[in-house]
Amino acid sequence: MFDGELVEYDAARLHVLSPALKYGIAVFEGFCGYWNPGHGELYTFRIQDHLRRLRASLDLAALDLAGDVSSLQGDVHRLIAANGFRQDVHMRLQVFLASDNGQPEDTGPTCTSIAVVPVSPYFGRAALNLGVSTWARIGDRSMPPRMKSIANYHNGRLASIEAQRHGYDAPLMLTAQGRVSEGFGYNVFLVRDGMLITPSVTESILEGITRDSVIRLARAQLGRTVEERPVDRTELYSADEVFVCGSGEGITAVASVDGHRCGDGQAGELTRQLRDQYLAVARGEALSSWQWVSPVYRPAVASRPPRPGRVNRRTRWRTSRERA
Ligand code: PMP
Repeated sequence: MFDGELVEYDAARLHVLSPALKYGIAVFEGFCGYWNPGHGELYTFRIQDHLRRLRASLDLAALDLAGDVSSLQGDVHRLIAANGFRQDVHMRLQVFLASDNGQPEDTGPTCTSIAVVPVSPYFGRAALNLGVSTWARIGDRSMPPRMKSIANYHNGRLASIEAQRHGYDAPLMLTAQGRVSEGFGYNVFLVRDGMLITPSVTESILEGITRDSVIRLARAQLGRTVEERPVDRTELYSADEVFVCGSGEGITAVASVDGHRCGDGQAGELTRQLRDQYLAVARGEALSSWQWVSPVYRPAVASRPPRPGRVNRRTRWRTSRERA
């Protein structure tokens, strides 16, 4: 979809001299929709939160987008429905400077593109071997990481290349001050003595929506304490569990960091509980009190909130044992 018009996949083109290509003047969002065969419904996950983050990125990047970003939900859902997807999908929504004689200082006019594709596995394995990168994570004084701009991704790309050359699956980056930040497309959590810990939002991270979901689920559903604070690299070495999270990859266990094994090298108990709960909510199996899912095909019926105070057996949490 280009500026609200449905176009064929191959017809969505950009000029080679656009500021989007010349200088990376573009912001974007990536998020998922989950097909629920039992409901015959596809749910987009936290789409309004992604659109709010898009608004924040546009403002930080000084890019114009006329109108209310929340109305882009209609375009996203129309695109999914036009393709008739009945499987998990990934969306990428971009806003960029497209004019061939545009200048890097321009704030507009901007173009908007939305692409939806079937989800494919993000990582090739169930538990990742991570390597801490020699590349520092970009910082708020240079390339603000909380602005989801395409240019920011060169930093993580360099770290990924380095990690793969050194035999790791993926990288973790440290801040310029040497504390744990995040990876290429994911935030990181560790578990120590039953407590969940994650670098705070001032540690050069993208403020991940999956990160926020994990924090809320852990506190509200599992009664866990979650600390958002500076994290030392060596805390990862002695953690009981480590996992990474993001819209594309969900919650993925970490087997080792710099060769130090995390727990028994498989997904730990808390990682598994969080992953099951996250997927149950995202797939519309368990309604959360936060109204995180938006139905694509039957919006009026399926988006009706549960009546307060009533326990609906179909919407309660399912444990991993029940699922097995
Ligand atoms: N950090 C970076 C750098 C990312 O690109 C992403 C993916 N958008 C994340 C963290 C995770 O964010 P979210 O959970 O919102 O997908």
